[in-house]
Parts: sequence; structure tokens; C-alpha cells
Amino acid sequence: MRNLTPYNKDCFAVHEKAVSKKHKGILKDNLVKLHPQIRQTYNSFEKLFLANQLYLLKPDELLVESEPDLKTLYKYQSSVIKVLREDIRNLQVKTIISTCQNCTIDSASTLDHILPKAKFPEFIVNPKNLFPCCSTCNSYKLDSFSTDSNQKFLNLYLDELPDESYLFVDVFLDKDEEFNFKYYLDNTENKINADLFLIIENHYEKLHLFDRLRLKSIEHISEFENRITLFRKRLTMAEIVFDFMNAVEEDRKAYGFNHWKSALELALLDSKLFNDRIEKRIKKV
Ligand SMILES: [Zn+2]
Repeated sequence: MRNLTPYNKDCFAVHEKAVSKKHKGILKDNLVKLHPQIRQTYNSFEKLFLANQLYLLKPDELLVESEPDLKTLYKYQSSVIKVLREDIRNLQVKTIISTCQNCTIDSASTLDHILPKAKFPEFIVNPKNLFPCCSTCNSYKLDSFSTDSNQKFLNLYLDELPDESYLFVDVFLDKDEEFNFKYYLDNTENKINADLFLIIENHYEKLHLFDRLRLKSIEHISEFENRITLFRKRLTMAEIVFDFMNAVEEDRKAYGFNHWKSALELALLDSKLFNDRIEKRIKKV
């Protein structure tokens, strides 16, 4: 996973734009009347966003009655959200933007409301509250949102990911002699700030990433095995590992330091089980 660059234009202007697109009538009038109040909540949001303390924000009790009106502002396919999605997309590195960075597994086909729209309808179209996300992560996030600072998810606009290894994989064979995997997090050398590591742990656990990555890895293994077998026909395993380490460095730059694929492939190359499997295949050829 990689950090994303947050929206860099006026956020409240997006809210105003969404209201302006409404047809003339009571709903629009009500929403326009709320502008001064919403502008204030946006200012509070902005301050806490800059300090990376969004979880301190409390739902605005005065806006509870307006929740149904505010909720009409967000539609994934509406023109305002389409433009916004494109604006957010244009700020990011092209190699990663189509993939949900919360998991790096599925495609980013939704926008996650970092502060959920049920509790914070006033930020329903606030660009800094919207994060490109897959539908699986989006629904897991909704289930376990908490303002408790010990229960946080990574906010990849704000929580800077460390260039230190924290994601590791154990490789083993299941009862059918097929490769299987156990992902885990580790900060034994304490190179990663303890508070940040706690958030990373919460994030992986609540988005069920260990098991989702395990399933993704089972999908990936035969392609990797075929690739390494092919290399092994003309190179020694030591030569393959040497070349591969350079490739991992490049992958880490492109997809993030702890991308599951790099962690998995390093673990496989280091695994006696995998090395034995490749040697067996080479002898068969
Ligand atoms: Zn995801």
C-alpha cells in the first residue's frame, strides 16, 4: 500500500457545487440555508485533518435533522462526484490508483467515507473525507468504525507509511501438498513508531487482510512458480535471488514498501519447500 495525496483545492466549494446541482425547491432551499453552518464544520475538519486528529471530531448534533437532506448530495455516478473522482485520481501515482490501497487486493471501485456518512452527513462530499476504496474494504470499515484512537484504521492521506518491513509471510504445505500462507505483522526491532504500528495492526485485522492476502497469494503462486521454473532452466537459484532482490526494490518503489507480493515472493525464495519444489520440476523437464 502507498500513501495518497489529498485533494488540494477548496473542499467546501465541492459541497456548494453539489447543492447548486439540485433542482429548485424546498430541499435545495434547506441545503442553502445550512451553508454557514456546514462551512464552519468544514473549517473544523480542515484543522483536524492538518493535525491528523480527525477522530477527535464529534458529530454535529444540530445537523441531525438535516441528515436526510445532506445524504441526497452523494451519488457515486453523479457529475459532481465524477469530477471529484477524476481530480483525486489525477493527484496520484498512476501505477496504484486503480487498486484499493487499503488492501492492495481489489480495484478501487468505490469511495470510502473516512468519517462515515451516517454519523457525519455534513462531510458526505468533502473530498478529504473521501478515499478511493474497494467495496470489500468499504463494508468492513463501515462495520467497525470507531472514534477510539486505539481502534483506528490507517488514513492513507495522513498516516505516513514507514519504509521498514512490517508484513511477513510463513510458507507451508497443506494436507494436499499445496502451498499455503500465513501473513503476520512484526515490529520486533521497534523501527516503526509504536502508535503507528498499532494503527497498522488494527487496519490489517479489521479489514481481514491476513486471510484476504492468503487467498490472493494462493491465486498468485502458480504464476510465480512457473516464472521461477523458467528462470531456473538457465540460471542458478542464487542468481535468480540476486536478480529478484533488485526487482523487489523497484516493486517497493512502485507499489509500497510492504506490498504483499514482495513479502510473499521474498518468503517463497527463502523457503526450502519452494526451492525443493522448483528443483523437482526442473528434474522432470
Ligand atoms: Zn480494499
